[in-house]
Amino acid sequence: MSVKVFGVVGAGQMGNGIAHVAAAAGYRVIMNDITQAFVDKGVKTIEKNLDRAVSKGKMTAEEKSQILARITPSTSLDDLAQADFVVEAIIEDLDLKKSVFKKLDEVVAPGKVLASNTSSISITKLAACTKRPEKFIGMHFMNPVPIMRLVEIINGLATDKETTQLTIDLAIKFGKTPVEAQDFPGFISNRVLMPMINEAIYALFEGVGTPEAIDEVMKLGMNHPMGPLTLADFIGLDTCLAILNVLYEGFGDPKYRPCPLLKKYVDAGFLGKKTGKGFYNYL
Ligand code: NAD
Repeated sequence: MSVKVFGVVGAGQMGNGIAHVAAAAGYRVIMNDITQAFVDKGVKTIEKNLDRAVSKGKMTAEEKSQILARITPSTSLDDLAQADFVVEAIIEDLDLKKSVFKKLDEVVAPGKVLASNTSSISITKLAACTKRPEKFIGMHFMNPVPIMRLVEIINGLATDKETTQLTIDLAIKFGKTPVEAQDFPGFISNRVLMPMINEAIYALFEGVGTPEAIDEVMKLGMNHPMGPLTLADFIGLDTCLAILNVLYEGFGDPKYRPCPLLKKYVDAGFLGKKTGKGFYNYL
């Protein structure tokens, strides 16, 4: 199967980045969100990121316009009927994702691929709410999408080899490096990353160090490009909490218990960079 039209559902931090790299690779892209304001915000972010590339001399203003022209904004899932491959990148919520995939399964032609950018939710479980589990896969991009090279490819229990190969080929066409993982909570990336972030939050909670001290230790001592609390703010604290809950419930192991301080920040609406406040201030 060849992909001509690429669909993205959710135009937030991840969705607009995925639409950006797909359009930059020459695909026609339909970028969907629930309201025009959310879609417009996604388009604006893509424009801003492309402007930066133009000012750095990495692309011409003409190339920027061509990339933007390939992206069609949408607020109705019915528009995805034209898509050959759809990636869902809405918030990390099982029930919401299931309802989106049920609808996509009705509108997207049979045989076309449905993929999720979920950080941790079972691909097998999401696939099971569609009538095409063999054409369902995890395509997990990293944040910020235009910059990060990895795409984790997660095979559900029923994913067929053709779908896996198509997704690997697409990731390569997007200029990324695909790495395959099997479908267990958190896959590889968040199975390893989230316990570290959670432990950093516990260290803050217990007064072991200030946010700056915790981040500085990991940057200078472990050569991480960014400290774990800064990284959590970039990912979104709501997303971190949702992933930790999937790990905690999925493995039934107390070592994944989300730190109460993380829960408190999410309750307060301090979600990190996207809301202007998390462990640090961004306003
Ligand atoms: P976000 O909050 O920035 O964006 C989510 C977007 O989905 C919002 O614009 C929201 O309006 C939209 N949305 C919600 N319900 C919708 C619906 N029914 N139909 C269409 N759009 C809908 O979140 P994000 O950081 O972009 O995360 C999106 C997904 O990507 C999550 O599953 C997350 O776990 C995953 N992910 C996040 C990161 C990260 O670092 N933030 C990295 C990899 C994967």
